[in-house]
Amino acid sequence: MGIKKVSNIFLFITLISAIFLIYLWYKDYEFKTKPLNQDIISKIEQKTKHLRQLAYKNYNITYDIPVLISKNMKNNLFGMAIYSYDKGIIIYLNKNRFKENIDYMIDSVLPHEYAHAIMFVLKDFSKKNAGHSKKWQDICISLEGKKCDRFVNNNDIIIEKTNPF
Ligand SMILES: [Zn+2]
Repeated sequence: MGIKKVSNIFLFITLISAIFLIYLWYKDYEFKTKPLNQDIISKIEQKTKHLRQLAYKNYNITYDIPVLISKNMKNNLFGMAIYSYDKGIIIYLNKNRFKENIDYMIDSVLPHEYAHAIMFVLKDFSKKNAGHSKKWQDICISLEGKKCDRFVNNNDIIIEKTNPF
């Protein structure tokens, strides 16, 4: 093979790699700047509806717990459950984490956080083991959660009970 041919092949490979890199950068940029796509949003909505039905069936709870997507969460958090005096109970899911594994976010993280939220509905604000009590675990399992282990190192609940006024 002549030198020219080899260098052409080399140039070709370099070019393909560069195009691929630019494509990856673009995908990353697109993910960061755009909202989650409609497919994922529908999946979250369906799962939330199912969780609400399970909460009603198992605990007779009718409280409609909002599930919001946030792009401003700390990167080590997948989701959070928040109880605040003025806004009530809210679940947040970390938008950036949907990039890696959508099923994990929906089948593991969402039920995990939903179980924290139900603890708040039941007025159990125990912070023992960062809210991962035996009771929380039972609720998590009853919600068909796939991530109901009690020994997690993330602090994923915030409780603000005091009336600021
Ligand atoms: Zn948790």
